Amino acid sequence: MSEQPLHDGANRDENTMLVVAIDGPAGSGKSTIAKKLAIELGIEYLDTGAMYRAVTFAVLRGGCDPEDSTRVASLARSVDLSVNGDGTVTVDGVDATTEIRGPEVTRAVSTVAANPEVRTELVSRQREWTRRRGGGVLEGRDIGTVVFPDAALKVYLTARPEVRAARRAKEVTDLDYDTVAADLARRDAVDSGRQHDPLRRADGAIEVDTSDLTIDEIITVLVSELR
Ligand code: C5P
Repeated sequence: MSEQPLHDGANRDENTMLVVAIDGPAGSGKSTIAKKLAIELGIEYLDTGAMYRAVTFAVLRGGCDPEDSTRVASLARSVDLSVNGDGTVTVDGVDATTEIRGPEVTRAVSTVAANPEVRTELVSRQREWTRRRGGGVLEGRDIGTVVFPDAALKVYLTARPEVRAARRAKEVTDLDYDTVAADLARRDAVDSGRQHDPLRRADGAIEVDTSDLTIDEIITVLVSELR
């Protein structure tokens, strides 16, 4: 017997949008879970971290100092960026898919993301992206706290630090485990300690430790929460 669809794609407006907010530190499983859940629900997926990385790429490419908050903010407002469902990212017409995951961008992204004007601009783009599609699964650091505090489902993913570092080390081929673990710890500290919209669990969010669960087990928990 087929189950009731969770979302009627034909009847979407601003009041009936289905939004799922997934937050958590790096390596907690956000992207994997968000992508799979979006397919399960028949809605689109947005990696908001890729947007902060794309702005950082534009900053570095333009020879701009990531600490120069005025220039960085103005660049964030003017940059043309697209983060696509297939994982490709373009920045002012240039394919930045690989570079946004590289060490230079990874090192500078938390500084750029701590800039309040950058956040205002990207939050507005994320809301617009979601409105145009009548909903979506969004993953990041402030989705449940700032971007969509009224999301139908808010999720906070965690995992033990060594599990998160091992996941990231597997994704990057040119850095060893210790370097990846140190970078992760530094980024977590900046993301959780920044003044504007720090990473934290949103009120009403369900917390899932993904360390010892399979992807399918996590998806089952989240879908049953939605139903
Ligand atoms: O998710 P990912 O690790 O690619 O995110 C890169 C960085 O972007 C994070 O370390 C954080 O500084 C920033 N970010 C953010 N708010 C979001 C998504 C990402 O500040 N919603």
